[in-house]
Amino acid sequence: MSITGELFIAGERVATSRTYQAVDPSTGEALGESFSIAGSGEVARACEAAEAAFASYSATAPEDRARFLEAIADNLEGLGDALLERGVQETGLPTARLTGERGRTANQLRLFAGELRDGGYEGVRIDSALPDREPAPRPALRARKVALGPVAVFGASNFPLAFSVAGGDTASALAAGCPVVVKAHPAHPGVCEMVAGAITKAVAYCGLHAGVFSMIADTGHEGGQALVANPHIAAVGFTGSRGGGLALMKIAAERAVPIPVYAEMSAVNPVVLLKGALQKDAAGLGEAFVGSLTMGAGQFCTNPGIVFAVDCPELDAFVEAARKAVDAAAPQTMLTRGIKSAYDSGVEKLAQVKGVNTLARAEKTDTCQAGAALFEAAADVFEGDAALSEEVFGASSVLVRCRDEATLVKALERLEGQLTATIHLTESDHDAAAKVLPVLERRAGRILANGWPTGVEVCHAMVHGGPFPATSDPRSTSVGTMAIDRFLRPVCFQNIPEALLPASLKGEGIEGRLRRVDGDWRS
Ligand code: NAP
Repeated sequence: MSITGELFIAGERVATSRTYQAVDPSTGEALGESFSIAGSGEVARACEAAEAAFASYSATAPEDRARFLEAIADNLEGLGDALLERGVQETGLPTARLTGERGRTANQLRLFAGELRDGGYEGVRIDSALPDREPAPRPALRARKVALGPVAVFGASNFPLAFSVAGGDTASALAAGCPVVVKAHPAHPGVCEMVAGAITKAVAYCGLHAGVFSMIADTGHEGGQALVANPHIAAVGFTGSRGGGLALMKIAAERAVPIPVYAEMSAVNPVVLLKGALQKDAAGLGEAFVGSLTMGAGQFCTNPGIVFAVDCPELDAFVEAARKAVDAAAPQTMLTRGIKSAYDSGVEKLAQVKGVNTLARAEKTDTCQAGAALFEAAADVFEGDAALSEEVFGASSVLVRCRDEATLVKALERLEGQLTATIHLTESDHDAAAKVLPVLERRAGRILANGWPTGVEVCHAMVHGGPFPATSDPRSTSVGTMAIDRFLRPVCFQNIPEALLPASLKGEGIEGRLRRVDGDWRS
């Protein structure tokens, strides 16, 4: 597929006069093609088309939407090596990483196809009529969840496939029955275009309304802001910076009709090292920690940006192993110049905090290459300066040394909301862990033991969410099948004649589908 740089508006390719170019972050050089920037007219047309598609698309049978998602997955895989090659050029991420991410993206689409066939997402509840109930009869009440409306999706820079054009937000919105308008991320426009082509092809192949999918682009904020403000848009999915997420939440809240924004923003993903775990293998933990910290140049939303431990001799062995591993880690290419410069500033800010000790820090470069940084501070220093618990997007982490368990728990209580929280423990640590776990549960969407937070399984039980600022809405997840709930709303039918009810609410319902009938779960 050759790259034309045109937008996708309801199946049409549209070129505009304002353009930008993709940049290879490893060289800093622009990559040939010019990519169109959407004006207000293109944004409006994409949203109108999405609205026009809503009635027919939201009424498609779950099986038809399942086939559509599978067609997208097939087309994505059909893009072959060209997609990966372009991805490497635009992001600096290695081929192996992008190969894995493509598999994950296709599997995610297929997982939602399975979810549609299972039907449980509809959440059917039926309370039968009780005409003889005293003092008043009960009407027949039948509820199910329906699609919310057109969804705007903002792809992330750090996952050019799995959290971008055909990523989790798009997959869950399309599964729910919502048309999607994507705002392409300017850091990987060629990849966005190739994937948008794969989706557009699937829309046509499945005979769906062309407005089911559009993709606009912008390098400033206007296009994205106009998208969120457009009255046809009913919800927003976003992954990116805290500033970006907050700006979009403000626009969404100030609309004549406010809409939900599901923004995944910033997290430092605390790791707690308990004594027994350190006594068992402090050096091994130190090495494994740096492996997780430096993975993908530290550009994972689940990167372990802060470590808490009670001071003990074994902690020094952890520090020594981690320090050596940071020194040995090769610098890696970061996604964009902007992200690299934000990383450099974040690391410098930490180094300047009074009481913070730099354990290891790679030399700063003038390119997009960056190495890791590791700092340590006592708990009182951590408590006295908010900078220590702020996300530095990249391979930077702070070890917080705590005097005792009570100090550790108090330090954890100061943390903001997180995507993940990790605890390293052995059986001898269970008493301490029992005190730590409730504090972590209050703050994180996923709590894991004896592992590392980088690596997010796409499955039914996954929660990739958490209290603010990890996300804008702690009640949901952006990964896993529960993500579909963000783009559905419940509707109750009261005393509606059987013949007019949707299939899943009629008499015996659809065979094999789980429903809650008069309080009992039945299939
Ligand atoms: P970003 O700057 O927030 O951009 C993400 C998307 O949102 C882009 O399409 C951007 O488009 C748009 N956007 C940002 N601010 C906006 C605003 N005020 N109004 C309208 N649209 C806006 O994120 P990024 O480029 O991916 O990375 C930058 C920083 O985000 C990183 O340094 C890191 O701190 C954070 N980040 C966090 C995660 C996470 O998962 N927690 C993931 C990736 C990045 P335009 O720029 O074209 O307007």
